Amino acid sequence: MPTDHKESTFYLETLGCPKNQVDSEKIAHYLRDTMTEVDNPAAADLVVVNTCAFIESARQESINTILSLAEKKQEGAKLVVSGCLAERYGEELAENLPEVDLVAGFNVAVNLSISPKKRFLRSADLPQQTSVTSLDLLELPRSRPDTPWAYIKAAEGCDRNCGFCAIPSFRGKQRSRSLESILEEVTAVGSHELVLVAQDLASYGKDVSGSSDIVNLYRTLSAMVPWVRLLYLYPTSISEELILEMANGAVPYFDLSLQHASRSLLQKMRRSGHAKYYLSLIDKVRQINPEAAFRSSFVIGYPGETEEDHDILLDFLEEAQLDWAGFFAYSKEEGTYAYSLPDETDPELALVRIRETQALQDEITFRKRKELIGSTQKVLVDEKGWGRSFREAPEIDGKIALPNTLPVGDFVDIRIVDSTGTDLTGIPL
Ligand code: SF4
Repeated sequence: MPTDHKESTFYLETLGCPKNQVDSEKIAHYLRDTMTEVDNPAAADLVVVNTCAFIESARQESINTILSLAEKKQEGAKLVVSGCLAERYGEELAENLPEVDLVAGFNVAVNLSISPKKRFLRSADLPQQTSVTSLDLLELPRSRPDTPWAYIKAAEGCDRNCGFCAIPSFRGKQRSRSLESILEEVTAVGSHELVLVAQDLASYGKDVSGSSDIVNLYRTLSAMVPWVRLLYLYPTSISEELILEMANGAVPYFDLSLQHASRSLLQKMRRSGHAKYYLSLIDKVRQINPEAAFRSSFVIGYPGETEEDHDILLDFLEEAQLDWAGFFAYSKEEGTYAYSLPDETDPELALVRIRETQALQDEITFRKRKELIGSTQKVLVDEKGWGRSFREAPEIDGKIALPNTLPVGDFVDIRIVDSTGTDLTGIPL
């Protein structure tokens, strides 16, 4: 729906993860200054696709979306491709997709602000003019979201070298935002819940001062906003201080980025930690707060993954009793350490293993959800008829069905009366 009455119009489509969504909100806010947003690509003068390039299937989806928007757009309208695919495969895209007018990488706002003489501009190619810094996507302002919660990106890039991950190769080294800049955005969005994201959130600030400043950031934000949720915590970077703050805080939700449980496979992944360490971390949190919720994600089928590694993961899942977990098939990515590793896992076998881990985790998740029946929970009403407690991250975990009459944005105490798979039903007390 048009949000304003300016002469030219734009349409923005976003693919991929929450981090990309934040970028899109900033691009949209920037464009709304001079253009009107529309929800139909056929009615837009400018069509922007913010792409994802995480794994092969995401890349394929991005390309399909570009091609389908190229067909839908009206004659004369410009088609701009931004985001990870543009940054990672910009030159190839510009060469092979004549229907695209500009391939603009992450700093799409800068690209759109200067006359695009080249069809492909990587962030590093941008002119060093003063306005460039003020148009840095990470620092651009954004509008108030429609939801009572908002993703906030605390940093961009990553200083680690996990064997399977191409992100550092195109997102670059970690670049943390200043506390002031984050606070400014938090004030602008005015949300009741902040969902902090970064590639390696526990290392927030390390690139600036040499040590992590995540505890200070968490404390500062928790004093301003009722719920602060941290996503993507590298397990061996979580300090005792952070555990204490989070376990005693309003959102004792630990999204641990574990990736596997077998020590030898984790070493091959060039990651630290192992099942025993992770279990003791989880136990430490539960001793402080037995109600704490845990989420993690795992890569299955990494080169050299043995039956024994897989059994270690199954045992770990059984013992850890995580609330939520996602399992992803290893994807061979150019520019990664694992790309040239021998002993590739047969993709069929990887799928069998995923099904096995998923079935076990579903059983655990569904049982844990059922156990909540009869309990009292504080929920944030997200939309008409739906809410979440601290246990459910928006767009990722289950939800709680509520009466339609509860006002969106309110915190309400409810009793859980039913569960269906991952979702619950609650009635106000
Ligand atoms: S998987 Fe590893 S390298 Fe990739 S973004 Fe996460 S911490 Fe960084």
